[in-house]
Amino acid sequence: MTDSARDAISSTGQALGESTVPAPRRPVRRLALSPSRASDFKQCPLLYRLRAVDRLPEKATKAQVRGTLVHAVLEELFAKPAAERVPATAYALVEPAWQKLQQERPELAEELFTGAEDPEQEPWLASARGLLDSYFGLEDPRRLQPEACELLVETELDNGVLLRGYIDRLDVAPTGEIRVVDYKTGNAPREIGEAKALFQMKFYALALWKLRGVVPRQLQLMYLANRETLKYAPDEAELRRFERLVSAIWQAILTAGRTGDFRPSRSRLCDYCNHKALCPEFGGTPPAYPGWPEPTADAETVLDRTD
Ligand code: SF4
Repeated sequence: MTDSARDAISSTGQALGESTVPAPRRPVRRLALSPSRASDFKQCPLLYRLRAVDRLPEKATKAQVRGTLVHAVLEELFAKPAAERVPATAYALVEPAWQKLQQERPELAEELFTGAEDPEQEPWLASARGLLDSYFGLEDPRRLQPEACELLVETELDNGVLLRGYIDRLDVAPTGEIRVVDYKTGNAPREIGEAKALFQMKFYALALWKLRGVVPRQLQLMYLANRETLKYAPDEAELRRFERLVSAIWQAILTAGRTGDFRPSRSRLCDYCNHKALCPEFGGTPPAYPGWPEPTADAETVLDRTD
């Protein structure tokens, strides 16, 4: 990484010559690469820019929020004693989890529904319970004792790339073997969704390998909508190659960040893009480039944690 690039991602943005009385400072988070944003850049550099640099608001979808809800319920479920991890417990956690999500993001209910009386809300909550039902068809959580759920992993590669992400669940066997588990609740096109999911899992495997010196034994993707589990065993050589790929993506992001040259890359995923109206590929004009962002205290939203 060049010095200017390092400066660009490590500056706290404090101006020189200001008062010497230390003002209370909110903690700032250095910009890092997450699997979601790396996938965005691979898919379309302009999409990355609009999300990560411009940070344009995106309207949450019912499917996204339902995914966040199901993840929250599964996290709560694993916090309970093993014997209580039965379907009835999980179903009972749905409504409180939805209330909690609305407290964190009061605008969500209005974005998704016309109000608390919207007749679509109950079937939507029922569909979240349906996904939990599928989960119980795939495994029995009473037999598991995860080391962590919603685990934040953050590590810096030798070349200065900072990786950051949340792992849905980490299982560690008494022998020390690690299994990374990710729940998928969405309906992304199967082949595209799988490639993205595998990229995400290798990202976590790389971060864990760097943090713990152990290559995870298994990466497990649980597709709740169609009750399928995919298992993958990475090896060290593969993670080394992946590390080079991730570093190359970050270097490309930094280069684009310096010049503002984030080009659109049209694909059939454009149908899912929130920013089509601003995209030159579809006759739109993006806002003026705001410059590379300073680190902030709120670098992610609640929905960033759920793919
Ligand atoms: S519409 Fe397609 S090309 Fe345009 S920004 Fe979105 S993903 Fe990129």
